Amino acid sequence: MNIIDNPQEVQKLCTQLRRDRKKIGLVPTMGALHEGHLALLKRAKETCDITVMSIFVNPKQFGKNEDLNRYPRPFEKDCQLAKEQGCDIVFAPIPEFMYPSNFMTHVAVDKLTSVLEGAQRPGHFTGVTTIVLKLFNIVMPDSAVFGQKDAQQVLVLKRMVMDLNLPVQLDIVPTQREKDGLAISSRNSYLTPSERAEVPLIYAGLIKARDAWKKGDRKSSTLIDCIRTKYNNASLFTPEYVSIVDTNSLLPLETISDTALIATACKTAESQTRLIDNIVLNGSL
Ligand code: AMP
Repeated sequence: MNIIDNPQEVQKLCTQLRRDRKKIGLVPTMGALHEGHLALLKRAKETCDITVMSIFVNPKQFGKNEDLNRYPRPFEKDCQLAKEQGCDIVFAPIPEFMYPSNFMTHVAVDKLTSVLEGAQRPGHFTGVTTIVLKLFNIVMPDSAVFGQKDAQQVLVLKRMVMDLNLPVQLDIVPTQREKDGLAISSRNSYLTPSERAEVPLIYAGLIKARDAWKKGDRKSSTLIDCIRTKYNNASLFTPEYVSIVDTNSLLPLETISDTALIATACKTAESQTRLIDNIVLNGSL
């Protein structure tokens, strides 16, 4: 496995691989690898000849009071895990290589980025689309693999790919979960033991709404009440939002007739950890 920090070097190598007709799969990550990331790598391995994993804690997608500085960076362990999964190239640039001091270009998707996570984290998605477009231009992948865990990110990136005619296929992998249902996340390591015991309720609430939908409930307000009632049992986290939205526009749905995304973000009381989760009804992203 090659570990490279220089964007030009990765670009050169990937250009040659494309000339050799290799199908390149890209898995963008911020490191602190877990089973979720490994599922994406596995998908890339299954569908592509060459797998590139980027590891970059992208400063542009963190707000001022967010966890950029405390974000875990176990780089050697990450490389070991990537290697065990058969990853071919780890691209791990330093921030100065991605954003030199004269950097002044950003890519922004409108509308989809002002709701849900975008409303709570202004500027976050511009950071995401800018870094992902840069990664696409450096690696020139045929396919890029993302997790359903970050559902809004998936929809924003799909929009960018469509709007800018980017020659890349997005491949979406289902959310990987702990045995008790908690969506696996690098940020779970921040949780205190008592928070960790309580946060499986987040997914349990979503499942309860899905069960109600399966039984025929189609009104969003009923399903949202169902989730909020479940979350009222929690003393160590509070929901920032619980929303049911259309998967194209991300606008709230009153009734569910087509594909719908139920998305939530919750914040814990002790470690101030933000956890997001979602479920898709009637289809996929
Ligand atoms: P991150 O390192 O958190 O930026 O995540 C990198 C990629 O892994 C993104 O496409 C995430 O959606 C995906 N991912 C993170 N957690 C999970 C999970 N539990 N299941 C599936 N994909 C995930």
